[in-house]
Amino acid sequence: MTMDVDQRFDVVVVGAGPAGTHLALRLADLGHAVALVDKKHFPRRKPCGEFLSPECRPLLEQVGLGAILGSSGARRIGGMRLCGYGRRADGSFLPLGDAALAGGGTATGGEAGFALRREVLDLESFEAAARHPGITVLQGHALRRLLRDGDGAVTGVELADPEQRPVFLAARFTVGADGVHSRVASQLGVLRAVPWLDRFAVVARYAGGSDRNHAEVHFLDRAYLAMAPIDGDELTLNLVFDRSAMPKGRRELGDFLRRHIEAAPALADEIGSREPVEPLMACGPLAARTTRQVFDGAALVGDACGYVDPVTGEGLFFAMRGAALLADSLDASLRAGRNDARSLRGYVRARRREFGPRYAMARLLQRGMRHPAIVRAFLGTLQAKPRLADLLVTITGDSVSPAALLDPRRLLGALA
Ligand SMILES: Cc1cc2nc3c(=O)[nH]c(=O)nc-3n(C[C@H](O)[C@H](O)[C@H](O)COP(=O)(O)OP(=O)(O)OC[C@H]3O[C@@H](n4cnc5c(N)ncnc54)[C@H](O)[C@@H]3O)c2cc1C
Repeated sequence: MTMDVDQRFDVVVVGAGPAGTHLALRLADLGHAVALVDKKHFPRRKPCGEFLSPECRPLLEQVGLGAILGSSGARRIGGMRLCGYGRRADGSFLPLGDAALAGGGTATGGEAGFALRREVLDLESFEAAARHPGITVLQGHALRRLLRDGDGAVTGVELADPEQRPVFLAARFTVGADGVHSRVASQLGVLRAVPWLDRFAVVARYAGGSDRNHAEVHFLDRAYLAMAPIDGDELTLNLVFDRSAMPKGRRELGDFLRRHIEAAPALADEIGSREPVEPLMACGPLAARTTRQVFDGAALVGDACGYVDPVTGEGLFFAMRGAALLADSLDASLRAGRNDARSLRGYVRARRREFGPRYAMARLLQRGMRHPAIVRAFLGTLQAKPRLADLLVTITGDSVSPAALLDPRRLLGALA
């Protein structure tokens, strides 16, 4: 079928969350013509714990967004408190004395994470992309379908504009940065469910938390609550739970959340009888995975590659760092005049090397969290051994090199 193409780009990025904006900014800085498309209008809400691990800071700085952490109400988060079953462990993000163990392939991160409203983080990132002369942004434009040539290679996208009229963009590469239920991944036939991890989340904001400089996770039976203080004396609370526990009607969500808060005494004390200051957001199923991430004329990045459970607060890091890795590969392919899947093998290898051990650790935590006895023993050990709690928290801060994840004794030594 022939069609009129409205515009041609080197790369069309579908989805303007952290993965999409970082990729667009990096590619445009390298001189490529980029279209950045999102079905929503910014600012938009996105269910999230709003915690940025320490290693996100250098990634934001690399694309000129470092000032967001200084000027937009971002709260400094020095560590994590892990609670449950009557136990409590506090871990701090610490610098690693041994430089060889530090840095997940990025510059050294620093010793604090941040908490920042996603409306602010995503809006400011999107506006920076919109200001870049190399990036054309389209809000309110949803992906309708991928365009393909006779061999099946992706050649661009058909979008629906806000009036549902078709818009055709041609590109050497089309990138799916469209989140965990990626339509790009689905149309490429690589999106799969993860039946053993069928979870949903409810996200709420409450008044309070101004005296906190740490995030918290409260473990319950087959559920957990994650809390981070944000600006304006508010805190963000996420309840993550099994789909089987999902209440039938939306109106029951408030009571459902309240019951879980009451099961976490330290949190119930903090929140008291306060009601959420904004409407609750529910989302799920959270889990998804993809069987491939690169294709002729296309690639996936961020959550579109697969779900990252919020418990370790690493999704934003994976999105931004994944964008950095993909930008390098796309740049090399475009300069070599190629747009085939093989030319992006470097991206696949780098993802496996950097993210593989972290995904493995996250899966291990997920499986362990399904067994109350394991969680109880785990929290008891962390409570008794604060250095181990620091180690765990520092690892989830993404500032530890992937290879070092396999050598906890050396890591503990480096923290000393
Ligand atoms: C409950 C919960 C809590 C979390 N807490 C944390 C946390 O505290 N810290 C952390 O690091 N991570 C957390 N995460 C994970 C984090 O939110 C994600 O990893 C991160 O947002 C991924 O960024 P992304 O750019 O890949 O996707 P997204 O942020 O999801 O952005 C995707 C974009 O694509 C757009 N889009 C979707 N479909 C289309 C379409 N068809 N056409 C055009 N545009 C489209 C969307 O509108 C959206 O703007 C949490 C996740 C959940 C669900």
